[in-house]
Amino acid sequence: MPRKYDLHAHSTASDGTLTPSELVALAAARGVEVLALTDHDTLEGLAEARTAAEAADLSLLPGVEISVTWGGRSVHIVGLGVASRNETLREGLAGLRAYRHRRAEEIGRRLAGAGIAGALEGAREFSNGRLIGRTHFARFLIQRGYAANEREVFKHYLVKGKPGHVPGEWACLEAAVGWIRGAGGRAVIAHPGRYGFSRAKLLRLIGQFRELGGVGIEVVSSSHTRDESLLFARYARENRLLASVGSDFHGPQNPWARLGELAPLPAFCTPIWADWEER
Ligand code: AMP
Ligand code: MN
Ligand code: MN
Ligand code: MN
Repeated sequence: MPRKYDLHAHSTASDGTLTPSELVALAAARGVEVLALTDHDTLEGLAEARTAAEAADLSLLPGVEISVTWGGRSVHIVGLGVASRNETLREGLAGLRAYRHRRAEEIGRRLAGAGIAGALEGAREFSNGRLIGRTHFARFLIQRGYAANEREVFKHYLVKGKPGHVPGEWACLEAAVGWIRGAGGRAVIAHPGRYGFSRAKLLRLIGQFRELGGVGIEVVSSSHTRDESLLFARYARENRLLASVGSDFHGPQNPWARLGELAPLPAFCTPIWADWEER
């Protein structure tokens, strides 16, 4: 029997709504055997998740999802199997979180300019004093009735051309891949279907990523159609990259991304776990 993997999920350490322990318990209940916790720009949830995973008899892979600016857009690079004590990785992520706080202040100012008062404070409450992101602004705006759900609120308030948009100034690709490799992890391009890149631009990203030592691409993701998964599986094979699978689960409130519910990888690609030791 193939094991059940979900290698991309969030907790309250970033913009998920379940605590690391709740996430692990849900994964175990859904029959996930190997789970990667991949919070945005933080390793904060890993210790709690590790303890919970031991109790639940599930393999926890320590991970992270690093925010990168590449080709004028925000791109996410997942690191799998990173050593959470690694100082260079920790410092790099701390820099991104500091930027997140500056960006949040600017988002708050811009929303105030559009007549929406108190957004920074509201978003901070949703983040519980931890890492802050656009999702926390989204939850505040929904609470105040500006939109019915997260998709709508992003579309009308938080993306390019909308009042709360601030262009990201994240890590460069080289730094992100370097931090992950330096911490003993494997770098994976997250949800390649989400960037709105042309094929040529995506292939440029893949080429540079590979030269820098990146090894994988998320082929199966809740945000991909079956056709997209097949295309990215081909790109993985043609570029000798390993294929990863991840729900990008953020909590039960988002019905489009359910923990552990993932389509199988196309048979012609090499899974990122192909050479992992059995427990
Ligand atoms: P940030 O890293 O703070 O810029 O926020 C990015 C996060 O916002 C992503 O990881 C998603 O959780 C969420 N997000 C981005 N775009 C959308 C969207 N269109 N609908 C719902 N959530 C989104
Ligand atoms: Mn997120
Ligand atoms: Mn992402
Ligand atoms: Mn994610």
